[in-house]
This record gives sequence, structure tokens and C-alpha cells, in this order.
Amino acid sequence: MDAVLNWQQALWQTIMRDGGIRGHALLLKGREGIGKFAFARLLAKSLLCKKPAVNRMACGQCSSCNWFDQHTHPNFSVLLPETFLDEHFKTVSDDGAHQLPADNKAKKKPSQHIGINQIRELDDFVYLSGHQSGHKIVLIYPAETMNNAASNALLKKLEEPPELVLFILVSHQPQRLLPTVRSRCQQIAMPVPDSEAASQWLKQQTVDDQPLGQSSQKTVPSQQVESEKLLTLLALASYAPFKALQFAENYDQHQQFINHLSKPESFDPLAVADMLKNQDLSMTVGWMQKWCYDVLSFSTTGSVRYHPHCKTNIQAISSRVNPQIMLIYQQFLNKHQSLAQHTLQARLFLEEMLIRYRALLMA
Ligand SMILES: [Zn+2]
Repeated sequence: MDAVLNWQQALWQTIMRDGGIRGHALLLKGREGIGKFAFARLLAKSLLCKKPAVNRMACGQCSSCNWFDQHTHPNFSVLLPETFLDEHFKTVSDDGAHQLPADNKAKKKPSQHIGINQIRELDDFVYLSGHQSGHKIVLIYPAETMNNAASNALLKKLEEPPELVLFILVSHQPQRLLPTVRSRCQQIAMPVPDSEAASQWLKQQTVDDQPLGQSSQKTVPSQQVESEKLLTLLALASYAPFKALQFAENYDQHQQFINHLSKPESFDPLAVADMLKNQDLSMTVGWMQKWCYDVLSFSTTGSVRYHPHCKTNIQAISSRVNPQIMLIYQQFLNKHQSLAQHTLQARLFLEEMLIRYRALLMA
């Protein structure tokens, strides 16, 4: 059964009361991983439902709800970059949308943008009369991935809004949208859960409950291990619970990775590169960025943000590292993070990243 996320309840009430939705376009904006996509889908499903409940929630029983659940609703259209088009596309990680696995490289690289063709293809959908002349809803996620041509084509539609069509734009970075697109939307700042709500939600998900790290296995009661793992995942995700769920999928690999990073004496860049060779490069770079952030943060402020359970290791590493050189390394990571999706030399870059990390420790 669908349910509004705890931290979105108040917003749901506001939006669903009469007059809560004004105009023909909504912009749901906020940090990545807080459930914006899930909210948008639930909103669409409920607005399309034929017999909504008292709180305007979708009934989950009518033909509209059935179509919706089977991704065949004739009056609902979702626009995503190709990288998100997973055949099992449902409502799970990364704010509710699934990303393609990285092993798809044999074919042409899927686009990370929403292109003008996708907007053009909406023409029939928005201008021809819909099923039983009901409302039609277009969901665009993440809206900032529309390229310029696509944004302009959408703008035309927003300027002359087709009747009975609601556009729902969801964006992690609304500042990257055309100002003219933004200004035509009713903007809604999506709420962020507090750490309690985030960890409560994460606990309810099917996070597999392997113990945290190798050393803590049998000596700690499993409940405590579980809650440590939750905290670790949430810290890594800056308390964005859907992101934490994504981290959970790669929890063991991540633990192995930071175990290696914590042992400067035996750190073998090529062996670690080999271990990570099939993993999404941008995710690996992200892990390294967070690790280096904490090392530097410890040496300047004595605190860590992403790896609260590795403080001792981070302290040891930070004592070996020159903060100036670490800064230069971070710039190198930042530059490559933005290129990671495009690079054809993933393996070479991965090796370079790890070799430079070792050099950092030996300096
Ligand atoms: Zn229904």
C-alpha cells in the first residue's frame, strides 16, 4: 500500500486541500535523496485515482490505480534521462528512481539528459484528448537534466498550457533550470527528514542486515550492529534516506574500500583498482571524495562527517597527510567527478586516482 512518507505528511495535506495546487505546473525542489520522486508519483497516482480516500490518497483498487502500478496509465507520462530507464523502473533508490547498472557499456552510452525529442513526443499526449477526457500528468525527473532545446520546448508548453494537463517537475538543482521555466511553476520546497525520521524509514526498508565491518562480527549484539550500520549509511548520505538506501546496496564494497584506504602500509593501488573495476566510476570517486573530505575535516576541525565509525582510522591517516597537498588532490577528484560519466579511460583514471592517494600518504 502506498503511503506518504512521514516527513511529507504536512505538505501532502497542504497540497491536497482545495486550491493547494494552483496552475498547471509544479516544481518540487530539494536535496537529492529525500523522496521527491516518490512524492511526485504518489501525487500523480492520487490525482488520477477514480475513488480517492478521504485524505485524497489513491485508493489502490480502481482501474486507474491498477494502470498506474503497471506503468501503463494512458494519462500519465514520465520523462527521464536514458540513464534512468530501467526495465524494472519502480520507485526505489535515488529519490525513488532507479539508475541503470554500469555494465551497459557495450551499447551506445545512455544519455544523461532529457532531450528535445522527448518533449516533442509529448505533443500527442498533451494535445490530444486523454483517456475518458480525464486529467493528464507529465512528470519530469530530474528536471535540470533537460538540455537547452528541451527546456525551451517545454517552456512553450508552459506558456500556452494545454487544458487539463499538470506538469510536475522534480529537481535537485532548480537553479539550473531556465528562470522562465521556474517562474511558470508553483514552487514547492520539499521537506528534509530529521535524523530520527530518516533512520526510522531506513530501518523499515529491506536493508540486508550484515554486520558492520569485519571486526565487529560476533562480539556485538546484532541490534546494535544494525543501528550502527544505519547510522553509517545515513552519515554517508548526509541524512538523505533514499541515498542511504543506495549506499546500502553497495555497503560491503564500500566497507572493503575504506578498509584499504585505512591501511597505508599495505595499500596496493592496482589491486584496489582491480577490485573496483566493474563498479560505477562516479560512485567510486564519490566515495573517495567523502573519505578525503573527512581526512581534511579531521585535521582542521577534529570532526568527521561521513564516516563517524572510522574516526580512529581517519585520525591516523590525517596525521600523515599534508593538508595543502590533500586540497590539491581534492581538486583533482572534483574535476574528475564531473568527467567520470564521460571518460573512456575509466580503468586508467581509477588507477591514477589510487596511485595518487598512496603518494599522498607517503609524502
Ligand atoms: Zn484508485
